[in-house]
Amino acid sequence: MEEARGGWPEGIKRTKQRRSVLDILERSENPLGAADICSMIERGGGTAWLSTVYRILELFVKKGVAVKTSVMNSEMALYELNRFKHKHYAVCMSCRRIIPMDNCPMESFIPVLEDANFRMLGHNLEIFGYCGDCDPLSGRAIFRGDAK
Ligand SMILES: [Zn+2]
Ligand SMILES: [Zn+2]
Repeated sequence: MEEARGGWPEGIKRTKQRRSVLDILERSENPLGAADICSMIERGGGTAWLSTVYRILELFVKKGVAVKTSVMNSEMALYELNRFKHKHYAVCMSCRRIIPMDNCPMESFIPVLEDANFRMLGHNLEIFGYCGDCDPLSGRAIFRGDAK
């Protein structure tokens, strides 16, 4: 993949809206949903249709510019820029906070596949649970799960 920052990825026709979506992905530290991107464009004074933004994101994924991160039990797909160093996330089941993981277990894991010729392009890994503020078993939790 070409480094997209400042330039424009090859093989994609440049439009104003595609430029805005790419800018937002480049600036964001966390993966974003199509609706997040839509409201960010609108806050910047632009107009964006959710279906258009979604189509742009899918195009970016197809061209390898962005990657789709699936978040468990979420109806919404999240997208982020396809950076060389990818990230995994832990998702809080209560407040939906997304906590980045600083390592990748696949770095020290050799998958044993029945098809020895399988060419791996990537992987998904997701951790789910409760963040420190929501964990019913933690002293910091707002609610307590000890009702009789
Ligand atoms: Zn939480
Ligand atoms: Zn990984």
